[in-house]
Amino acid sequence: MKVGILGGGQLGRMIALAAYPLDTQVRLFDPAADACGGEVTELHSGDYNDFEALRRFADGLDVITYEFENVPVEAVSRLAEYAPVYPPPISLKVAQDRLEEKSFFRQHGVPTPDFVGVNNLEGLTQAVERLGFPAVLKTRRMGYDGKGQIILRDGSELEAAWRQLGPSQLIVEAFVAFDRELSILAVRARDGSTAFYPLVENLHRDGILRVSRAPAPNGSQSLTDRAEEFAEHVLRALEYVGVLAIEFFAVGDNLLANEMAPRVHNSGHWTIEGAETSQFENHLRAVAGFPLGSARARGYSIMYNIIGDAPLPQSILGITSAHLHLYGKAPRPGRKLGHVTLRGDSFAELEPELAPLSFLLP
Ligand code: AMP
Repeated sequence: MKVGILGGGQLGRMIALAAYPLDTQVRLFDPAADACGGEVTELHSGDYNDFEALRRFADGLDVITYEFENVPVEAVSRLAEYAPVYPPPISLKVAQDRLEEKSFFRQHGVPTPDFVGVNNLEGLTQAVERLGFPAVLKTRRMGYDGKGQIILRDGSELEAAWRQLGPSQLIVEAFVAFDRELSILAVRARDGSTAFYPLVENLHRDGILRVSRAPAPNGSQSLTDRAEEFAEHVLRALEYVGVLAIEFFAVGDNLLANEMAPRVHNSGHWTIEGAETSQFENHLRAVAGFPLGSARARGYSIMYNIIGDAPLPQSILGITSAHLHLYGKAPRPGRKLGHVTLRGDSFAELEPELAPLSFLLP
């Protein structure tokens, strides 16, 4: 079995690492010739719009998937001529446009914050009259890790915000004073069977994920049922195959979907040590047509992202329950360079071990 992956960053790298024990080969495609996945498996580099390079990449592949959601849909559709592509390209199309994505959620019974698509300053002014302040203005496309978004606090900020993010198409959303952020990772196999990882609690700073706790502390059964039901709606509507992540704002017992990722997700990195089957292995199993593995948690996990250019203290490996994953990427401010997962039999057991990691939380 040979699996092709569009995108050769840390997600592709971790899928490739999960592929070895299954005797499955992985070939990555990335515009950057030094993409970090290339250290562990075969990497083709080329432009996503270079269909000849994509054809060479597809040669000999049994199935194709992606680990990066801003791959042009056209590239993925072309590749579908050579091998089956999972998740279905429609998932990519929906997830690439925040307006389409939120409209899709609503259409399939998944609640979201209130939102309005805006194409000019006048439209933005009308939209915030309806939504009220504060509101969040975002680019519809190519936004990630909090990039391309501005919080609007009053009417005097509209013009400058429009000048900064416009004239591309934008979406403005009601600001949600959430209690916390949660995500669910779900996986659907080619035969339609599904598995759900426990809810994860996520802490973001400056729009970037910093810490995940799994299973989410104080998660009730009704919260889990609701998240699974929403994920199930999405999986079914897209005839999805692979791992899907949905990020929610939790307000009391309600969940409002913020966005989805049609791929393995940063809030699922803890599954490498913290679940019976990692998200990376389950994604591979799904797209390759193998049976899914159990998504049950093994104890309690806390994952910290290693971001930016601060030197990593050696002491990290001295933490008894720590599992370190470095991606082999050159340090740069704001860049995800690795993660560390602490795993134990209770959160209380892990709490005393968190102090040496506090430098990872600005
Ligand atoms: P996003 O790029 O949409 O994932 O947003 C990044 C982060 O910004 C989210 O994880 C939230 O912490 C925050 N955020 C985004 N949209 C909203 C919103 N409508 N209300 C409150 N916070 C938000």
